[in-house]
Amino acid sequence: MDYSISDSLQRRLNTTQEFLDSEIIPMEKYFLRGQWDELESMIANARLKVKSLGLWAPHLPKSLGGTFTGLVDLALFAEVLGQSPLGHITFGCQAPDAGNAELLHLHGTESQIQQWLRPLALGDIRSCFAMTEPHTAGSNPTLLDSSAVLDGDEWVINGRKWFTTSADGADFTIAMVITDDTAAKHSRASMIIVPLDNPGYKLIRNIPIMGHAGKGYFSHAEIEFTDCRVPVGNMLGGEGQGFSLAQERLGPGRIQHCMRWLGIGKRAFAEMCSYVKTRKISSNQTLADQQLMQAMIADSAADLAAARALVIETAWTVENQGFKAAKENISLIKFYTANVMQRVVDRALQAHGGLGMTDDTIISYFFREERAARIYDGPDEVHRLAVARKILKQY
Ligand SMILES: Cc1cc2nc3c(=O)[nH]c(=O)nc-3n(C[C@H](O)[C@H](O)[C@H](O)COP(=O)(O)OP(=O)(O)OC[C@H]3O[C@@H](n4cnc5c(N)ncnc54)[C@H](O)[C@@H]3O)c2cc1C
Repeated sequence: MDYSISDSLQRRLNTTQEFLDSEIIPMEKYFLRGQWDELESMIANARLKVKSLGLWAPHLPKSLGGTFTGLVDLALFAEVLGQSPLGHITFGCQAPDAGNAELLHLHGTESQIQQWLRPLALGDIRSCFAMTEPHTAGSNPTLLDSSAVLDGDEWVINGRKWFTTSADGADFTIAMVITDDTAAKHSRASMIIVPLDNPGYKLIRNIPIMGHAGKGYFSHAEIEFTDCRVPVGNMLGGEGQGFSLAQERLGPGRIQHCMRWLGIGKRAFAEMCSYVKTRKISSNQTLADQQLMQAMIADSAADLAAARALVIETAWTVENQGFKAAKENISLIKFYTANVMQRVVDRALQAHGGLGMTDDTIISYFFREERAARIYDGPDEVHRLAVARKILKQY
């Protein structure tokens, strides 16, 4: 396996890191104070600069205005951008838009591509992905019961979803709904594009997450479809292909999530190291002089390095040998990296003492919001079971 980085990729990664330090991290104070209006216009300006640097949309091909050069390269960008909650958004590769764009790119009809993918790829419109329901277990999505019934040349959708990330202000959602209740369990569902100015759609609320209700990109909404009619041509992929498309969407998406989490770990680690070097705990010693603190730093460095090696190896395997060859590793990195990131963020918070609990640094945001990493895209338990079952089959 060759993980060497070309000079031109290294230059682009360096430029991205410099942009993150000089333009994105300074915006975080507006984000942490919840000044959404100011933030929105700052992000719009920063996006123009990213486009002029030729770094826009590292997940999309050139034909769609992006700069994709391979999955390992994309993983490395995700790590740099993950250091700030505003990184991916500023570079146009934020979830769930990125996953939706990849789906539309692979499975969209020409008219879906023109209507939804092109403006999405440019960052002119926003989207969300509605699969999880409050009343059915998201860990086993074959149980979902929101439905779409064909009536003439329209699908009529009914059901309730929640944790629809970024629904607030989105232009369309891709809804996962049952289209054939009698089919085999993995062929019951389909994906349908729903424009959100539809009278049959309602955003019920932005769900507060640990005391904070985000807006716009940072919202997690509860939504409802009531006799929501969309043209038959809004189905994405074939009827009954919902689960296979979801798998396709989540596979590469998990690699990006993992590298984003490692970016979070890297940032928390850097904040911890800088802070302990300056925080005096006696007349002649700082926190950095304490062996217990040094142990936290060494453990965090080891955790991050091990997880990073595993994620890059997985990205390399997908790129060179296909998704199937990396299936087990994708489950493995999903739960392993989420836990590594949380351990490192937790240590960074501890090292900051009371300051770590405040919103004066980014760490409490990471601690609060990124707890979800062990739940979404399949909770830890589901991935651990999948890995263990696969391993045990060999004995
Ligand atoms: C911040 C956030 C953003 C999200 N964004 C989206 C989004 O954009 N779109 C969307 O559709 N969904 C989204 N989700 C939903 C997410 O995918 C689900 O929460 C997840 O799939 C788990 O489903 P559930 O919440 O229904 O938990 P349940 O399925 O009810 O499971 C509860 C818990 O049980 C445990 N568990 C599950 N199965 C097993 C098992 N076999 N053995 C032992 N223990 C088990 C797990 O610990 C799990 O956390 C988001 C969730 C969060 C928190």
